[in-house]
Amino acid sequence: MAVNGSPELLIVMGAQATPDQIEEVVARLAEAGAHAHVTAGKEATVIGAIGERELLATLPLEGFPGVERVLPILKPYKLVSSELAPEPTVIEVNERRIGDGYFGLIAGPCTVEHREQTLSTAWTVKAAGATMLRGGAFKPRTSPYTFQGLGLEGLEILAEARAETGLPLVTELMDPRHVEAVVETADVIQIGARNMQNFLLLSEVGKADKPVLLKRGPSASAEELLMAAEYVVKEGNARVILCERGIRTFERSTRYTLDIGAVPVLKQETHLPVIVDPSHAAGRRDLVLPLARAAVAAGADGIIVEVHPAPEEALCDGPQQIPSADFAEFAGEIRELAALMGKVIG
Ligand code: PEP
Ligand code: MN
Repeated sequence: MAVNGSPELLIVMGAQATPDQIEEVVARLAEAGAHAHVTAGKEATVIGAIGERELLATLPLEGFPGVERVLPILKPYKLVSSELAPEPTVIEVNERRIGDGYFGLIAGPCTVEHREQTLSTAWTVKAAGATMLRGGAFKPRTSPYTFQGLGLEGLEILAEARAETGLPLVTELMDPRHVEAVVETADVIQIGARNMQNFLLLSEVGKADKPVLLKRGPSASAEELLMAAEYVVKEGNARVILCERGIRTFERSTRYTLDIGAVPVLKQETHLPVIVDPSHAAGRRDLVLPLARAAVAAGADGIIVEVHPAPEEALCDGPQQIPSADFAEFAGEIRELAALMGKVIG
């Protein structure tokens, strides 16, 4: 359900609180013209109270039976905040999971170039144990003179790859005019780094019934990423995966600087899963595995990597794509490291 207004107060119900007591708090909030956002956790239920802070302050919520604590939500992000839902969110897509012990291994080409390239990569990553297939049909390219993606035809090829391999699809939506087509085909809608603050697009995918993979903009702070996620969740779509993919710094030896510290920071701040894209951060194939290892060790809930049957012929991002022939070894190493961190490939 879409949320109108900002959740300002957190009402933590005691572990013994009954459904009736929870209902009573919700009803009292409604009576006062406020709304409730109820999150039922394993330990306790947490109610976010949405309304004017001044009005909420006048309600004697602490005295209600079953209420343990009432706290203000001080962070600018509310629905995505770990305060509101202290337990990690697990995102499930066609029986694949990301979050809370489930590690997502998303792999595939940067771009759908043609049918054979996409299908062959899909089979390679599937055989190596990838949980989802990535691939762009609509591509955000720095230069208008480079390959811009196959568009709708690319979506059809991706759909065929899914039908053959059974892997759920992660593909990028760039333009509100393509919402219908992308939402229909994708299993996870990717919002790319360049569109992280395209608020219109965020609101659109917030109304969609598909999970969203939201990439951090190269010059966006972690807090701005969380605020962007808040735009999506506010519209009713709570299934958001955050992705650190490198930020712009003065360093030139890598394409971007992977902000590995953002992983534990985000994991503290939000209940949403956090994954890492070492391919776009590195920009070079030899660094993808070390950065992916760092991501696992930092506590990421998954990685998204680019794989191509012949990277030297790739129409986009060739230098960073892992050759198909090397992917099984790569995946094997990630699986072992994830297990060390207490995670299973979801
Ligand atoms: C991508 O994943 O295809 C992509 C373009 O990445 P980013 O938006 O992070 O640059
Ligand atoms: Mn790419």
